[in-house]
Amino acid sequence: PFEVLIVGGGPAGAAAAIYAARKGIRTGVAAERFGGQVLDTMDIENFISVQHTEGPKFAAALEAHVKDYDVEVMNLQKAAKLIPARSEGGYHEVVLENGASLKGRTVILSTGARWRQMGVPGEEEYRNKGVAYCPHCDGPLFKGKRVAVIGGGNSGVEAAIDLAGIVAHVTLIEFDSQLRADAVLQRKLASLPNVRIITSALTTRVDGDGTRVTGLSYKDRNQGTEHDVELEGIFVQIGLVPNTEWLKDTVALSPRGEIEIDARGETSQPGIFAAGDCTTVPYKQIVIACGGGATAALSAFDYLIRLPAS
Ligand code: FAD
Repeated sequence: PFEVLIVGGGPAGAAAAIYAARKGIRTGVAAERFGGQVLDTMDIENFISVQHTEGPKFAAALEAHVKDYDVEVMNLQKAAKLIPARSEGGYHEVVLENGASLKGRTVILSTGARWRQMGVPGEEEYRNKGVAYCPHCDGPLFKGKRVAVIGGGNSGVEAAIDLAGIVAHVTLIEFDSQLRADAVLQRKLASLPNVRIITSALTTRVDGDGTRVTGLSYKDRNQGTEHDVELEGIFVQIGLVPNTEWLKDTVALSPRGEIEIDARGETSQPGIFAAGDCTTVPYKQIVIACGGGATAALSAFDYLIRLPAS
């Protein structure tokens, strides 16, 4: 059994593992895919002190740093169920999809999130070649270019406002007959000269020249007509889904399925902590996930040293 058992091996889980191991306590990490979302990322230019790196390189560095320490890394292991300890100080159990089970006196949940995709032809092919999901990350790559934002909820409208200050032109495409973002955001968006808003529109295709995105096609849901828009970038903002389906009924989740944590990273269950994109932390970024992982590990250590000696 582990003193600290971490589920998820992205930036949050890696940071938690390093902070826990540096306390000299038995630490394990079970991850479906060690590295997490950064494996799917091209350029990273906002991890402070690293001017530029690439996702897979960053993921390899995370792994190398974790392996500098006495951490048991169990890669390609998907957790299916969490059974909290029955009494304070007892072991929590994590049941893996393959039937095996792991025990930890504390558990840190860092299973991350995934961007909801449109599921249209071209989206996968041009991912990172014009199709993007994170305006904070990739916005500056489209400086002076034309982009679309797909989705008129708060995140889509925020993205459109943000991007309008960087790119030449933004087309916002919303499936519904009206935007769903807060009124104050909608007013701000409507005031911007380089934004066009198209409602009742279903994106049907991402177009490209084989190397880069060159446009998109959408269907006008009222008229049934197809339209093309020429552009260089597409930001898909139709939801970030936390990987917490397996945690229903064990820790408190927000209405969006994010694990509710306090400022110390503790969940609703004593001894169970969480960090990164799977939590209610505002803003989902690598540097924030790393900070969250460090917080959760230090809180787990604090919890452990307060348990009565057994
Ligand atoms: P994740 O990276 O999602 O890692 C989750 C981990 O949990 C993975 O190891 C996963 O396999 C594992 N896991 C999931 N479910 C289970 C389960 N049931 N059992 C076991 N393991 C499980 N952020 C930036 O700061 N800068 C950028 O430039 C940037 N660019 C991005 C580009 C793209 C295309 C994407 C998708 C994201 C980008 N981000 C960027 C966001 C950044 O990647 C995330 O904020 C960060 O990876 C979150 O870290 P995390 O550890 O919380 O989760």
